[in-house]
Amino acid sequence: MPLTDTDLDPIDLLRLGDRHALAIVDRDGTLSAVPAVAEGDRWRRAGSGDGAAEALLRLLACTPGRSTHRRFEVVSWTGGPAPETERPVTVDQTNESIIVGDLAVVKWAIHLEPGPHPAPGRLAALTAAGFTAMPTPWGVVTWTPRDGAETLVVTVTGYLPGAVDGWTWAVELFKDAARSGDHAAVIGVCATLGTVVADMHAALAATVTTSTRTDAQRWRDGAFATLAAARQLARPGSAQLLADHDEHITAVLDRLSTLVGIPILNAHGDLHVGQVLRTGDLLVITDFDGNPVLPPAERILPVPAAVDVAGILQSLSHVAIVAAERSELTPEHLTPVDADARAALLNAYLHRLSETGHADLHIAHALGALRLQQVLREVVYAGRHLPRWMYVPDAALPALLRETSR
Ligand code: ADP
Ligand code: MG
Repeated sequence: MPLTDTDLDPIDLLRLGDRHALAIVDRDGTLSAVPAVAEGDRWRRAGSGDGAAEALLRLLACTPGRSTHRRFEVVSWTGGPAPETERPVTVDQTNESIIVGDLAVVKWAIHLEPGPHPAPGRLAALTAAGFTAMPTPWGVVTWTPRDGAETLVVTVTGYLPGAVDGWTWAVELFKDAARSGDHAAVIGVCATLGTVVADMHAALAATVTTSTRTDAQRWRDGAFATLAAARQLARPGSAQLLADHDEHITAVLDRLSTLVGIPILNAHGDLHVGQVLRTGDLLVITDFDGNPVLPPAERILPVPAAVDVAGILQSLSHVAIVAAERSELTPEHLTPVDADARAALLNAYLHRLSETGHADLHIAHALGALRLQQVLREVVYAGRHLPRWMYVPDAALPALLRETSR
């Protein structure tokens, strides 16, 4: 019998008070964590306004710390009182987020990822270290399947009114700077962002270990696998460029195999401007779910801090490409803005990293290879999932090849 919304048939359930639950459902082998509300003797899929998010917040408020409910684990960093009144987040999203009382965002993992999941550990480490440039974590719920690793099913964070992500705020800033020739605002915001990223790495420094030959070989092999996929998926122009510069590209990516004996840490892992929310002068980093292109077991492994730095720097170059595409501006108008933005971010990052006593975390000679890998990943992503994004890596690749061959 096909499942309907009034007959969830959960494979596991976390009760949230009398009438609500968090249900794990299996639809044709795909697991989801969905909010549920009791209807007679059945569980119905709860929507915004049905009170499941409010019920979860009440549970977090009355059980601060860590508590285990069979295969569920609830971690709460809040002691209440629990806000009320639900409304949905309406922007494009992968999961399903509900805003409660304009104070908290409850994100249900509608697409349950196989574990292990990096977010609970990252959020706990950042919270313990007093890092504040992220939406305030209120709590997480994890679930451990009978035959698998623990994974994340709900994340609750403090709500930031009016927050927009970098694919909006940075694109606007870049366009304004290119039109006026005044780069002060871009430089100011990117410097702040560099400081925030350094503070995040300093906060995660408690997780530092040293890379082994196996780590370096895995990074190198991963980059060459990405290169092979990009060669298959690139459009003719970029495919030609990859062929023409094969020797240079191979040499750059090969540098990853030399990253032995360097400091590595539980970094963000998927840092780009889209993960940076801005509200007024405040910048916060979101989404500690790890890099979705890596297999789950690899997502939780420590990496050089330079992975995050390369990710955020390269995303600024992509912002410049998007800004030119979506306006009357040409790439030539945007190039100096991009250069100033990246220089400001990197300088501020290095300055703060030194100030906090963690200068050794920065591995400058890895940046070129990691940025190149990021561009190749964008080719693969666009080729497989989002063809209309391909203009971004198509424009980024020649620019980066010019930069790395200087
Ligand atoms: P998904 O994994 O579903 O993409 P995200 O965590 O990226 O979910 O959030 C999706 C969107 O919801 C963000 O781009 C942002 O607009 C909004 N959002 C997420 N967290 C918050 C928050 N704490 N405060 C305000 N808005 C948020
Ligand atoms: Mg997102």
